[in-house]
Amino acid sequence: MKKYAVLGMDVEEWYHLDYFLDKECDTSQSTLDGLQIYLDILGKYNIKTTFFVVGEIVEKLAPALKKIVADGHEIALHSYHHRRPLLMTAEEFEEDTIKSVAAFKEHLNYDVKGFRAPCFSLDRERLEILRKLGLTYDASKINFNNHELYGDLDVADFEQLADDIYRIDGFYEFETTTVNVRNKNIPVSGGGYIRILPWMLTKYLMSKLLNAQKNYFFYIHPFEFSRNYNIKEPEGTGLLTKFRFRRGRKSVETKIHRLIKILQRNDYQFVRFEDLVEKHNSAI
Ligand SMILES: [Zn+2]
Repeated sequence: MKKYAVLGMDVEEWYHLDYFLDKECDTSQSTLDGLQIYLDILGKYNIKTTFFVVGEIVEKLAPALKKIVADGHEIALHSYHHRRPLLMTAEEFEEDTIKSVAAFKEHLNYDVKGFRAPCFSLDRERLEILRKLGLTYDASKINFNNHELYGDLDVADFEQLADDIYRIDGFYEFETTTVNVRNKNIPVSGGGYIRILPWMLTKYLMSKLLNAQKNYFFYIHPFEFSRNYNIKEPEGTGLLTKFRFRRGRKSVETKIHRLIKILQRNDYQFVRFEDLVEKHNSAI
């Protein structure tokens, strides 16, 4: 069976990270330079992917996003303010999503198809809202219970098309990649994990992925590539948060090149999520 890799990015500022969201952040500092660094890496391998963009920065990023689309990438929703959907009521979540869809339409004249929740924070009730609003896929599922912020999305009545692709009435759910090590699911697909873990460990986890013959649905953020290393975190930021935020940012580019080469050597096809929707739709 053919294996696919979506090397997606969640396009957000450093201050959208959940651990800074309710703090007094100096929002004049930006890490969005990391977006172009990632685009240059993808360009080198001619990889097209999906960028999930926070609604409130769509206007500011409009020229860059238009170019991204013109270059053949896909853009999709990542909520309006990067609030976790499970912290909103269903009504608030619906309003937030409508506002995000409208921002893409107003500033980019772009019809979005997909959504990924901040912190994979989604449940079935909110997923039904995405369907009601006419989106065609969601990528908020992850099978990983060890993270305190992540949601647990029930897709038991979906048709399972692959290890990590589910469908119900033409709506698709993509599950972010984890690998099973000693009966525990470990994400091998997040920029944070790639950045913080020693490369040898990532390589080991990738070998597990290759053995399992799974697709690879990955996500990373602009701040992880940003050369703006001197962001001043808000007052009272703890050491663990500083570690999570700063660690490995200088070596992440090298690691991404290695990761792409591993995927290339193992015949992964690099696609956007909308391509996978189309492939499965045309197979019906
Ligand atoms: Zn995010």
